[in-house]
Amino acid sequence: MPHNKNDGMSIQTLKKISEVIDNSIVKDLTINFHAGEPLMLPIDYYKKAIDVLGHRHKYVIQTNATLINQEWVNFFIEYNIGIGVSIDGPKEIHDAYRQSWNKKSTHALTERGMNLMLQNNLNFGCITVLTKEVLKNPKKVFTYLAQYTSNIAFNIFETVGNVKNDVDNEYNELYKSFYIELYEIYKKIKKNNLNIRIREFETLEQYISNANIHEIFRNQENKPLELVTIDLNGNINLFTPESAGSEFMIDNVKNISTFNDLLFNKKFIELYKKIFTGVKNCMNECSLYSICGGGAPGNKLSENDSLTSTATQYCNLSVKTLSDIYVKNYE
Ligand code: SF4
Repeated sequence: MPHNKNDGMSIQTLKKISEVIDNSIVKDLTINFHAGEPLMLPIDYYKKAIDVLGHRHKYVIQTNATLINQEWVNFFIEYNIGIGVSIDGPKEIHDAYRQSWNKKSTHALTERGMNLMLQNNLNFGCITVLTKEVLKNPKKVFTYLAQYTSNIAFNIFETVGNVKNDVDNEYNELYKSFYIELYEIYKKIKKNNLNIRIREFETLEQYISNANIHEIFRNQENKPLELVTIDLNGNINLFTPESAGSEFMIDNVKNISTFNDLLFNKKFIELYKKIFTGVKNCMNECSLYSICGGGAPGNKLSENDSLTSTATQYCNLSVKTLSDIYVKNYE
């Protein structure tokens, strides 16, 4: 989670993480270098980090692509790194929210990075944040992204993990009309067997097709040890892809020998009791539980201030609105 060239996780912490992985039951992981701009660190740092953590894992980097040059591309190819580019569509839409710290447009640099990867036949995915500007322009944004990638994902706009603060009635309406139009595009993709994935519809279809399978925890974000986030200092957060603060911080990697040790930690047990109650409440109250699996604890806490709560603005959009559009427009 680097923010500048001096911010990488220490080799000592990486070695300890590697030891913990080796002692744990699941040994082949997907490891995502995430948050800040990961390419601020030198390539050699990542080579060393991967040597320490092990070459058997799948590595992923989420980047704004502005620093990508031929050396980075060679490294991505040699180490088989999965790349996700953060881009919000064409320049005028992207620039509405994504600018550098000195308020300059970074769009041309992001395009340069993406073009270089394409010239080297390196496939990558794109993640677009659903700002109001994006929501107003579904076709334009999709057409732009599809020039670069066959793997498209959309994240709901949120600041500091709190969707409730950022979503008003206008956002809700725009969100609906965005996905109605996007679903028409998705249907054409399917009909014509085109090789383009839109993550949100694919995930929903997967959940719907598995809806009858009995499984208490269907949602990655409320399954113990499914998402493990380790910050620069070795602090371990569970149940959320972000470093979400003290509530989800269970221990430090220097204090454990396997990830299973976390399951016996008092703080984990207390946290998990509340999350489990929240999932059970969802199971009892919500008709979409078999699709959703009980929601994301990070959203429940940030929006409702309660892990035992059920509906959030986040699930209203990502589960209820989306599945409603899907069912109404399914052919
Ligand atoms: S859609 Fe919301 S209320 Fe329903 S199960 Fe999911 S998180 Fe719970």
